[in-house]
Amino acid sequence: MISIIGIPLDENSSFLRGSAKAPPLILDAFRSDASNMYAENGFNCGDSGKVKNFGKLQLTAGKAAMDSIQKVVSKELNLNQKVVSLGGDHSITFPIIQAYSQSYSDLNILHIDAHPDLYDNFENNPYSHASPFARIMEKDLVNRLVQVGIRTLNDHQKEQVKRFGVEVIEMNNFDSSLLLQFDGPVYISIDIDALDPAFAPGISHLEPGGLSTRDVINIIHQLNGNVVGGDIVEYNPDRDINGMTAVVGAKLLKELLGKILK
Ligand code: MN
Ligand code: MN
Repeated sequence: MISIIGIPLDENSSFLRGSAKAPPLILDAFRSDASNMYAENGFNCGDSGKVKNFGKLQLTAGKAAMDSIQKVVSKELNLNQKVVSLGGDHSITFPIIQAYSQSYSDLNILHIDAHPDLYDNFENNPYSHASPFARIMEKDLVNRLVQVGIRTLNDHQKEQVKRFGVEVIEMNNFDSSLLLQFDGPVYISIDIDALDPAFAPGISHLEPGGLSTRDVINIIHQLNGNVVGGDIVEYNPDRDINGMTAVVGAKLLKELLGKILK
């Protein structure tokens, strides 16, 4: 059983707010009569015995918001639910992984993003959406961190990659036949800006030269491992065109649910 949790938090965004409005819009597209509820592997995401909508969290701010996210996710995991979260900006992944690492001691992360989000200090905000994977790795919460789609590594972030032993598949080395193999549980964190803005324009940080929608779906399908949860973050409805990025978010949500449950 999976709980879909909406996490409307965008206060840790460094450039533009807006992603807090994303969760209900992705869910509207997910349930829209324009499509059906099936993932490509045949899993029916409309099966209410397997997928439940937890609803949207009511959050305050700062550390208190982070603590509530961790608490809610922990509670679901302790009830033997798996969790797929809809952001919000990428800062939400740190408290989610704090919860997951307590239930899964040998957790791995597949992180799909244009950005490595490994800044040691970004604008003096430890929770910045530019830093969640630095916080995760400092606390040694996971076994492996594998990043795909990256095309913005600067010198500082390269040092962080080395410091933490992150496995980075940069966009300039990406091959669509990529087969990822994980021993132990895998959490998939999808930042929508990993996709080329041509496929998903509704984001705060446009970074051309990215993945296609098909590339991301193939990465999920071809992954060999036990996927136990995930998130879809950084959709910014203020920047979208005809809701097309919400539909991409909904499509990736279906494929993620199908991967976890089938
Ligand atoms: Mn990100
Ligand atoms: Mn990003």
